Amino acid sequence: MEAPFTAEHEMFRRNLRAYVERELAPHALEWDEAGIFPREVFTGMAEIGALGINYPEEVGGSAGDYWYVVVLAEELVHSRNAGVNMALLVQSQMATPIINEIGTPEQKKEFLIPALAGEKIAALGISEPDAGSDVANLKTTARKVGDEYVINGAKMWITNGTRADFITLAVSTGAPGYGGISLMTFPTDVKGFAVSKKLEKIGNLASDTALLFFEDCRIPARYLLGEENQGFYHVMTNFQGERLVAAIGAVAGMQQLVDESLRYGNERGTFGKP
Ligand SMILES: Cc1cc2nc3c(=O)[nH]c(=O)nc-3n(C[C@H](O)[C@H](O)[C@H](O)COP(=O)(O)OP(=O)(O)OC[C@H]3O[C@@H](n4cnc5c(N)ncnc54)[C@H](O)[C@@H]3O)c2cc1C
Repeated sequence: MEAPFTAEHEMFRRNLRAYVERELAPHALEWDEAGIFPREVFTGMAEIGALGINYPEEVGGSAGDYWYVVVLAEELVHSRNAGVNMALLVQSQMATPIINEIGTPEQKKEFLIPALAGEKIAALGISEPDAGSDVANLKTTARKVGDEYVINGAKMWITNGTRADFITLAVSTGAPGYGGISLMTFPTDVKGFAVSKKLEKIGNLASDTALLFFEDCRIPARYLLGEENQGFYHVMTNFQGERLVAAIGAVAGMQQLVDESLRYGNERGTFGKP
């Protein structure tokens, strides 16, 4: 098999690594201790073209192929902060690809374009206190009332959750089970929405992970993403890229640990030997 990375991919890799090592890595510990990182990290990554690397130019992207996303996930590990990487990948590769795929021009304008520019923070709201892997049985409901949906429920473990400007939200709109799930673009300035708490974790410390509540939140019906009651399929489509990018980042992180362990072992002298 031919090497998938061209000279252009390698140039993106060099520029990205230099940026990540210069702008992110020096703050790794400070941001872990703070439990958050500055919003400007999103805009900075957008400015170097990292957030929209594989999106069409019409939405502010660079129209790169998926190998650029592989480079992105691999090079982010040089930030030395898994929480920041998680937040950036949710922003650009988990909460937003499905809007690009099936969103209306209005949804792209209101949510996707500002997210890829780093101006609006995006979250993906699928998991709930009683539904993680079991997406088909999520309990948050969206009831159609006139030309609005009224949303009630809770979402758990939501990355970027304490400060997201919008959530790509999975809700139940129909019969129980996978045939009754829909996706919505949900702006968080809606009445009845509340960040219940920021969750304590043992890792990914700089990433804010939140428990969110929705009480009679009314959003326009035009915020439905894709087809009503087809959301389970949309979520599973989105998971392909989401899980892949997480796996690539995990492998790159492990490789970094092996490389650094070897270097440390070879540099360190103890008992009079290297
Ligand atoms: C740091 C962090 C950030 C997260 N960010 C987000 C986010 O931004 N948005 C979001 O929606 N969610 C997010 N999540 C939630 C994450 O996607 C869920 O934790 C995950 O889907 C698993 O769900 P669960 O925790 O309910 O575990 P469960 O589904 O209860 O699984 C528990 C265990 O049972 C196993 N299991 C589950 N089903 C089966 C089965 N049918 N057969 C055999 N074994 C099974 C699982 O493999 C696992 O080992 C985040 C989680 C963490 C920890």
